[in-house]
Amino acid sequence: MSIHLDASAVVRALAPNEPVILNRPQAAARAARFFVEKFPGKSLYAVKANPSPDLLAVLWENGVTHYDTASIVEIRLVRETLGAEPTLCFMHPVKPVAAIHEAYHIHGVRTFSLDSQEELEKIVEATRDRDGNAATDLSLCVRLRVSSEYSELSLASKFGIDLADAAPLLQATRQVADCLGICFHVGSQAMTPFAYVQALERVRAAIVDASITVDIIDVGGGFPSIYPGMEPAPMEDYFASIHRAAESLPVSYSSELWCEPGRALSAEYNSMIVQVEKRRGNELFINEGAYGALYDAAHVEWRFPVKCLNPERDSAEEDFAFYGPTCDDADYMEGPFRLPANIQPGDYIEIGMLGAYGAAMRTRFNGFGTGMVAEVGDEPMATQYCGTRRDPRHSDNVVRLR
Ligand SMILES: *Cc1c(COP(=O)(O)O)cnc(C)c1O
Repeated sequence: MSIHLDASAVVRALAPNEPVILNRPQAAARAARFFVEKFPGKSLYAVKANPSPDLLAVLWENGVTHYDTASIVEIRLVRETLGAEPTLCFMHPVKPVAAIHEAYHIHGVRTFSLDSQEELEKIVEATRDRDGNAATDLSLCVRLRVSSEYSELSLASKFGIDLADAAPLLQATRQVADCLGICFHVGSQAMTPFAYVQALERVRAAIVDASITVDIIDVGGGFPSIYPGMEPAPMEDYFASIHRAAESLPVSYSSELWCEPGRALSAEYNSMIVQVEKRRGNELFINEGAYGALYDAAHVEWRFPVKCLNPERDSAEEDFAFYGPTCDDADYMEGPFRLPANIQPGDYIEIGMLGAYGAAMRTRFNGFGTGMVAEVGDEPMATQYCGTRRDPRHSDNVVRLR
């Protein structure tokens, strides 16, 4: 793949009439090294945020050795892409028995998460050897339900055992696990480090209630990226708060700290070039939408940064909304997206920060969702990893509730 300077260079070279995904391997490499060097523990990449094999290779080459997978297809994909060396963890709390069996016996997966007694029994049964002996090398992480109140996208209602019910499950899991972990997810795009501090307080209560030793404390995903209207505290503040809170747990001397960033390792990897096909007032009909990489823009009103790529459009910016290419009214993205007032059909727009839950969401619905891929060498529209600390009076503890 040839490397272009930036999105404008891609437009000049290809004049694309389909959307073009832009890859920025240097940005993903920087994010990976940041987590590997600065997170006070182990960083597992949550593959679902963006399973593209080229991204997996960049993360692996930059020191990410552990992968949080949620399905047998993701497990096969990581093995096919990166080989036998990476450590794969199967962190979906509800798994088909056949998937657990294949993960353990064929792909060497030893780490599983669970949030119920039934799932614990499934894991024990599916990992027995041919003679029926129970596995003695399991790392089992019990998923605790925690609050999502500081995050833009909740993950609080589907998975996780309530603190009040956790002790018997932790004790039963301790009986069969070689390594016992407690994991949680504070919700995606957690806007303050306090989300993790509060969750770790719940972990402390769970450990004390159950009177058990714990080998892994896994603080999950939720590490934020930067989007319009969502400027989180610097990533270092998250790491420092987590480190302090984890150090004060009664098991800190004997346990490992893990995290599972998806968004934070992938958001800066992709942007996308789209074309305006029609303008109706301040609504732009573009060739990508709700069934494509803009799923979150449509379904959870996520705002992505945008840039008009036609240098002649120099008038002041106004608020625009987008319609995607399918025939469906739901293919609508309210934004607002700030673009020059004189933008016209035929113009190209770059939409930034689409590496997490963007490029991965494309479907073929209505005959769209194919397209081109190019590599560019410029900076993403925003980055968490340049070492520029924003003024904490303005950026710390920004809590945005919807
Ligand atoms: C989705 C998910 C992640 C990644 O979350 P981000 O908010 O993208 O960091 C991590 N762990 C689990 C179990 C998940 O389901």
